[in-house]
Amino acid sequence: MKKFIVTGGSGFIGSNLVKFLLKKNYFVINIDKLSYSANPYNLKEVRNNKKYKFIKLDINNQKKIFTILKRYKPDGIFNLAAETHVDRSIDNPKNFMNSNVLGVYNLLEALTKYLKKNKKKIKLVHISTDEVYGDIKMGNRSSEKSSYNPSSPYSATKASADHLIKSFVRTYKLPAVISNCCNNYGPCQFPEKLIPKLIYNILNGKPLPIYGRGKNSREWIHVNDHCEALLKIFFKAKNGESYNVGSNQNLRNIDIARKLLKIAKSKPLKINQRVKIKFVKDRPGHDFRYALNNNKILKNLKWKAKIPLNSGLSQTFDWYTKNKMFFKSVPRKLYENRLGLKV
Ligand code: NAD
Repeated sequence: MKKFIVTGGSGFIGSNLVKFLLKKNYFVINIDKLSYSANPYNLKEVRNNKKYKFIKLDINNQKKIFTILKRYKPDGIFNLAAETHVDRSIDNPKNFMNSNVLGVYNLLEALTKYLKKNKKKIKLVHISTDEVYGDIKMGNRSSEKSSYNPSSPYSATKASADHLIKSFVRTYKLPAVISNCCNNYGPCQFPEKLIPKLIYNILNGKPLPIYGRGKNSREWIHVNDHCEALLKIFFKAKNGESYNVGSNQNLRNIDIARKLLKIAKSKPLKINQRVKIKFVKDRPGHDFRYALNNNKILKNLKWKAKIPLNSGLSQTFDWYTKNKMFFKSVPRKLYENRLGLKV
């Protein structure tokens, strides 16, 4: 049975990945420092699973990471531990340096030391983002060969980590690969992010805050499709390579809000009249458009996103409607008053 470490496994994508790997009968060790965006609610159904182990730890703790590697001898590490909200990176870039750059450095050092003494094969799959490519002009899509051009402290720290990993692959022959994924949506996402924030506001009779005039465009993928891609990358990717993980489903923020409103109206729900799109002051340095060229992963790894946006959003809406405890399990002050999103 394969054993995997998932770092950041109590957050949004991490918890979906932990459950996805457990369903496939793998042994999963979740290492998470439990920051504000981690939520025990996300993993309540696997807490007592004998194939699941949780370790509360910062990935900066190189010594303990080394000990965990020695003890469990995992086949793979999926690194999702990171600070992730662009607005928070504008408020406080230092936290992003600590987890997204230094944290990755410490993880790489622990792994390099471990590999000097252990012959067992292991692969690091580092989870990065399409934001490293920066703004992409209409009609263009970034490929893995496009240059990095990050705009926010968040994307700059993610870009730094990608470069650091590639340098460790080349210099120390570290077995690592990188995925650059577009915007994820699905269950268990911290409600400061666009889609759960809009669903929360629809369910709670509040206006729907949209930056600027809502014209900024993102590519959206269901988190389950991302998990499938990550496992495929673990098994099939060539060391040192990076893979864009996209869906080709690009939408302006205003269209996401309109789609969610339409979905909400199709459900047996009473929607308060205050639930209307409300433009708010734009985020500083806001990237206008991200869009990925997916050809490499489609061709080389035979992976393709399967979940259409309309049905994925509708299922996601249903999940948040049925899991109101998810919202209750997060202190409201952590997400109701984020930069630019005051309503
Ligand atoms: P999230 O904020 O929901 O979860 C991050 C998790 O990492 C939290 O549980 C947190 O406690 C943990 N963490 C943070 N710093 C840590 C540290 N130093 N040590 C141990 N644990 C730490 O984020 P997410 O949306 O699930 O994103 C996960 C990863 O995927 C990130 O690396 C992010 O950059 C990347 N990514 C996210 C998206 C997206 O749309 N959400 C898209 C592409 C890539």
